[in-house]
Order: sequence, then C-alpha cells, then structure tokens
Amino acid sequence: MKKSITVIGGGLAGSEAAWQIAERGIDVQLFEMRPLKQTGAHRTSDLAELVCSNSLGSKLPDRASGVLMSELRTLDSLLLHIAEGEALPAGGALAVDRESFGRKVTDQITRHPRIEIIRQEVRQLPEGAVVVSSGPLTSENLSNEIARFTGEDHLYFFDALSPIVESDSIDMTISFRASRYDRGETEDGDYINCPFTKPEYENFIDALLDAERFPLREFEISIREGVRAGFHQYFEACLPIEVIAERGRDALAYGPMRPVGLTDPRTGKRPHAVVQLRQDNLIASLYNLVGFQTNLTYQSQYHVFRLIPGLQKAEFVRYGQMHRNTFINSPKLLLPSLQARFRPDLFFAGQITGVEGYLGNIATGLLAGVNASRLLADEIPLVLPTTTILGALCSYISSSDPVRFQPMKANFGILPGLEDGVRRNRRQRANAYAVRSSQALYEYLKPKNN
Ligand SMILES: Cc1cc2nc3c(=O)[nH]c(=O)nc-3n(C[C@H](O)[C@H](O)[C@H](O)COP(=O)(O)OP(=O)(O)OC[C@H]3O[C@@H](n4cnc5c(N)ncnc54)[C@H](O)[C@@H]3O)c2cc1C
Repeated sequence: MKKSITVIGGGLAGSEAAWQIAERGIDVQLFEMRPLKQTGAHRTSDLAELVCSNSLGSKLPDRASGVLMSELRTLDSLLLHIAEGEALPAGGALAVDRESFGRKVTDQITRHPRIEIIRQEVRQLPEGAVVVSSGPLTSENLSNEIARFTGEDHLYFFDALSPIVESDSIDMTISFRASRYDRGETEDGDYINCPFTKPEYENFIDALLDAERFPLREFEISIREGVRAGFHQYFEACLPIEVIAERGRDALAYGPMRPVGLTDPRTGKRPHAVVQLRQDNLIASLYNLVGFQTNLTYQSQYHVFRLIPGLQKAEFVRYGQMHRNTFINSPKLLLPSLQARFRPDLFFAGQITGVEGYLGNIATGLLAGVNASRLLADEIPLVLPTTTILGALCSYISSSDPVRFQPMKANFGILPGLEDGVRRNRRQRANAYAVRSSQALYEYLKPKNN
C-alpha cells in the first residue's frame, strides 16, 4: 500500500512538517486554504507567511529562543535555515524580510517532488496519518470538526498586529538610529527610536486612553469578560498597548516603550520613553512599531500615533489589528510526541497545540512531521528530553493541568532546574541550560543515528 501523510495548513508548522516528512521519503499532501479562503491576518498566498512581527526572537545563545534555534539547527529545520539566509540587521534578534521568507519557503516546498500542495479548505479530518497545523485562525468548519472529534470546546483569546510605517515618512531630525546598549549589528544602530520627554509621554498616554477602539464581536466580549475565565487571555507578548496603558500610566514606559540602553543624541540623555521601529523589509522602506499591537480604530491610530515624536507625518501602510486565536486543550488530548491520545495517527502541531511564537510553532511542526514519518516506518515516535526547550514545550502542553491550561512560548521557566548545587547568576544559569540542552539532544539522537 502506498504510504502518504496529509498535512492540514501550510503555515509555519505545516510547511516544516511537510518538508520533514518528504525528506524521509514519504509522500505528502499539504492542504492550504489560502488564497481561496483567507484567515483575516494573512495577506498573501505564500506558505509560512509571518502575520505580525518579522522577528523569530533573540538568537543570543543565552536566551530561550536562541537555545531553541540551536536545537532546530541540530534537527535540520528547513524554515530556520531559510530564515537565517534571509536575516535582516536587528541587533540580537533573528528578523527576516517577511515577503522573501514566505516566497523562499513556498518555492522550496513547491519544488519538492514528494509534496503536493492542494489549495483547498479541509472541513473534515481525513483517514490515515494526518498532521493538523491549521493555526490560531483555523477555519470555522475545521474548528467544528476538531471540536466534534475531541469533544472539547475550543479556547479563544486575542492576538494583535502592530502598525507599519513608510521609513521616509519618519522625521529623522527627531528620531535617531541606535540599538539598546549599542548591541546592534550595523554601525549606526539597527532600530529607529522615537524619543519622548515626560510631558510628551503624558500627552500620548491621555490620547491613547481616550481613543476609540474597535467594538468587540459577541464571542470576543464573552471571552474578555471571562465567561470562560481561566482559559482565555491576551498573548502577553502581543498585548495591545491600550490594555498595557490601562494597567498603569507608567506601564508602557516600563514595557514596549522602555528607554533603557538608549541615549538621545540631541540631549545626550536617556529619553523618558521610546517607541522603537524595526526594519520590516529588505530594502528598508518599511518599519514596524515594535510591540505596538493595538485594537484602536484606524482613525484613532492615525491621530494617536502621530503624537509620537518623529511620526508626526508618518504614512501608515498597515494599522494595528486584533484577531482570534484558537487552540485545543492539549493536556487532555495530546501525548508529548504530539500524537492525539485517542488516535495515534493524528498529530497536532503549531499554535493550535497552545505553543506560542513563530519559533515554537516551527519546532512543533518539525517534531510532528518527524513523528508521523516514524509511525509509518513502524518506529517509535521521538519524545525529546525535557532538558531541551522543544522537549519541555511538548511536555508542558501535554502534561499541564487541563483546567488551567494556558498557551506557552519558549522560555527557561519550563525547564527542570539545575540540580548540581552550583550557585549561578542569571546569565550563568542560562548558559548552563544551553549547554545541558545541546548535550541532551546529542545523546538522545546519537543511538538512532548509528
Ligand atoms: C494576528 C496574530 C499575530 C501574531 N503575531 C505573532 C508574533 O508577532 N510573533 C510570534 O512569535 N507569534 C505571533 N503569533 C502567533 C503564532 O506564532 C503565529 O500565528 C504562527 O503563524 C502560527 O503558526 P502555525 O503554523 O501554527 O499557524 P499559521 O502560520 O497561521 O498556519 C496555519 C495555516 O493553516 C491554514 N488553514 C487554516 N484552516 C485551514 C483549513 N481548514 N484547511 C486548510 N488550511 C487551513 C491557514 O490559512 C494558515 O496558512 C501571532 C498570531 C496571530 C493570530
């Protein structure tokens, strides 16, 4: 019998899963509903489109995302390889030109002789080995089908997109280029910084708190009010700025607008607050407002964001937006191999499992693809050591308390502690985690490579 695997959703997880399966000599049918049906956040028909930030996170070896990158390198991730080839200057972060990243992934997947891309919405879970990687914006039909299969309600919460401006509309006599603590890769600094004095900041906060917001839809209101409390929350890394500001007038100055490590060359001093703008495309014609996701109406954004020093005449090519996020109750439904507990040939990967962040979604796609291939080859699926970031993420989503389950991104907090009794500071601890992860992965993969 001819062996093949169905992958549902050609996003970050699905593209990586399809590649891993195909590279193991198994045919893949990769279903992607775009461009026939859009999600509300994607703009192109490309596979692996990045919908918000163009950064895959810090690549520093003492950061959790840096350690996960190193694990993905060892596991031969296609998407990480392409991202590294498309990297833009962004200090310690791995940022890419989003369009060429999506195009390159689409091109590689399309050219693989074992992958057939089918542009169609999947409405029912097919028979046989399947990887479901339909993402946080899974279509309603498929959501209903998954709900029927799992017997669980879905869990919704919000994510948000940050605005993008044209770089030549930024007033560079006010803004200045710099990276925090001069850690950038380019000589004049990787970020454009818009500095605030205290009165400018106070004025901005007043306008932000008064600004009109998009009305929430029915299901979003019920979520916001905590009708299903305990299951829903904003994705903290994408928290809308007006929600942060509601937590306290200084919250933004300690959050996305923190000025630490920056000196305004006009005053020689640290500004009261700063909005940072990160390069968004290769030719540097677009910059996104870092951490500035919002649910303000476009009209309000136009007025409020023009109060930012340096952006008085900014041209916005995209305004911030908010979106639904869908994920399953993984602790009830999944094994750490990403197989469904009640149907071993059904795998879930990406954001729908409750793993947050681009990199984590690529990583779970990789593991689901490898494990689906192993299942067809009558091999035991991989369950990675929990001392690796990917192993810890899979352990977290499959064994947390199902009643309190909250999505999680790569971080050191989910790793087991270091029990060698050595006293370490934060950085030394991070380095020890990194070394331990790489040794554990090496040991785990070694016998299988022989
Ligand atoms: C608005 C928004 C902003 C985000 N911003 C960030 C961010 O800045 N940084 C970050 O690290 N993470 C962010 N995330 C979280 C997450 O990392 C991304 O959503 C990531 O793209 C998820 O990867 P994925 O592969 O699980 O899903 P996706 O990349 O969304 O891929 C899923 C694919 O499945 C397709 N699909 C859906 N239903 C069907 C169906 N029935 N049949 C066929 N195809 C289907 C979709 O069209 C899509 O292409 C954001 C999420 C959202 C929703």
